[in-house]
Amino acid sequence: MSGKNWLSGALGLVFPRCCFLCGLPLDLAGQLCAACLNRIPRLKPPFCSRCGMSLFPAAGDGHVCGACLGSPPLFHRARAEFVYEEPLADILHGLKYRADFSTLPVLAELIRPLQGQLSLDLESDRVVPVPLHRKRLMDRGFNQSLLLAELFFPESRGVILPQTLLRVRHTPPQTTLDGVARRKNLAGAFAVSRPRSIRGRRVFLVDDVLTTGTTVNECARVLLAAGVSAVEVVTVARVA
Ligand SMILES: [Zn+2]
Ligand SMILES: [Zn+2]
Repeated sequence: MSGKNWLSGALGLVFPRCCFLCGLPLDLAGQLCAACLNRIPRLKPPFCSRCGMSLFPAAGDGHVCGACLGSPPLFHRARAEFVYEEPLADILHGLKYRADFSTLPVLAELIRPLQGQLSLDLESDRVVPVPLHRKRLMDRGFNQSLLLAELFFPESRGVILPQTLLRVRHTPPQTTLDGVARRKNLAGAFAVSRPRSIRGRRVFLVDDVLTTGTTVNECARVLLAAGVSAVEVVTVARVA
């Protein structure tokens, strides 16, 4: 046993690690006990091949949902691992609104299955977090989407570009608005500052939650106009 393993083993005897959600001691490695992990609802296949929404089992793979057929999104595909419900919603809230960075190891563990499916090509692809306006960034002190991008692509930090897509207009939170108002609210909200860094490349656009998709669609519009070849949206959760 190496010195470090010996020490962490001894500390584990004195301070047993506890489940992040229920506080019960953990006997296996990880941040959550099996019961709490099972309380976090995963999205079940088959998925809409554009927006990643769960479809009825009879739909089979490769189908597109009615919403995407009626109004195809500008992004190529969106993927998430979980349904945006409790207790995950509170974990994401903790990160975003309470600056609770102890959520990061938990989120890292939760996104692992999705992470394994993201075939990022370090040579040609780039990662872009959904940006905050400068004012909100100053208030909050960090961009949660950038932190999540670093969790999704921990070995690829060199290709994460937090300064390329900017939020140039301060807008009211999308959660207070309905469909049409959401789109109007975001018109002209984003701009690309360094188009050469992404031109001709596939971009993985990272956000915490996909709700109506208006925000990532607006980001995709601006990225594609700047010459990006395709936009792949990656979020931890989505509204079912
Ligand atoms: Zn638990
Ligand atoms: Zn869809």
